[in-house]
Amino acid sequence: MAGDRIFNFSAGPCTLPLEVLEEAQREFVEYHDAGMSLIEMSHRSPEYEAVHSEAMALAKEVAGAPEGFEVLFVQGGATLQFAMVPLNLLAEGDHGAYVDTGVWAGRAIEDAVHHGSTYTAWSGADDGYRRAPDASEIELRPRTRYLHITANETIGGVRYADWPDVDVPLVGDVSSEYMSRPLPWDRFDVVYGGVQKNLAPAGMAVVFVRRSAMEHTNRDLASYLRYDVHGASESMFNTPPVFAIWIMGKVLRWIESRGGLGAVEAASVAKAAVVYTAIDESDGFYRCPVDRASRSLMNIVFRLPTEELEAAFLDEVDKAGMSGLKGHRSVGGLRASVYTAMPMEGVERLAELMHAFAAAHA
Ligand code: PMP
Repeated sequence: MAGDRIFNFSAGPCTLPLEVLEEAQREFVEYHDAGMSLIEMSHRSPEYEAVHSEAMALAKEVAGAPEGFEVLFVQGGATLQFAMVPLNLLAEGDHGAYVDTGVWAGRAIEDAVHHGSTYTAWSGADDGYRRAPDASEIELRPRTRYLHITANETIGGVRYADWPDVDVPLVGDVSSEYMSRPLPWDRFDVVYGGVQKNLAPAGMAVVFVRRSAMEHTNRDLASYLRYDVHGASESMFNTPPVFAIWIMGKVLRWIESRGGLGAVEAASVAKAAVVYTAIDESDGFYRCPVDRASRSLMNIVFRLPTEELEAAFLDEVDKAGMSGLKGHRSVGGLRASVYTAMPMEGVERLAELMHAFAAAHA
């Protein structure tokens, strides 16, 4: 079965480590001699509680989150965090500042306006969303509670090479590069992301909230929307997404066994370089619209000279045992999502095809 697997470049849900899938398969029908699967058990069973608390501990450990942070597992994906961030953090008179780097930053802004006073502190719109800003370009107003950034634009392929160093706490949507590089935790109050790219099957967001920020969050909200409620209940306020949490624990252990974030980051740099080199050495046959300094290591977007050639390229991708390279439906073109579980052989096969295709059609 495993021999039939192809290289899956999908943007998420996406490829997960084969070792993890196989381990889960072995344990799936009967979990540790319990006579049932883990996903059939009460979430209050000792078996599940052990899985849950290990996943929480591993999430903090692998991310390198310091003592002052609480980790929360919250359903509703990263999308619910677009609302929960302003709902929890913005008090009367406070403003939430947003950097607009593309589609996902835009979605965060669109939702936040319903839940507090917000403004755009920098926008890449006029420039075609080709880069992340420098801290010096971000214009903050008085009484700004946080600056929201989208660490990696999954559709546009733009990332921050350097984290902005500004005078207010950062809130980061790190969905599409979760646990792929160390974070400067001292600058953040909240770090959140959906798990369905680097960490787990879809089903929740992992949210790190600075404890001191959580103590001052808005209490006048439905319980599920309150960070402090999730914190006090250790993410067991209601039935947690047990399957996603179970698999995430395994992925986090897998990341640790490979050397943790430093090793993941080095591997990501090396894998992305293989694809960007194929683009840059193609004499303009492939074009990446993103400025070099802001090129994503996770979502590599590129165009071919015509849409016909892009369609022909996708046919070849399929024949070569790869998939998921079609760009997002809103922008077209091609996108190679090179998440943590994508092996080097995957990007090498893609680069080989890119060279051969360019040679045949340039
Ligand atoms: N932010 C980013 C950067 C994303 O890539 C995505 C999903 N692709 C989201 C937010 C929304 O995540 P979810 O589907 O988990 O709500």
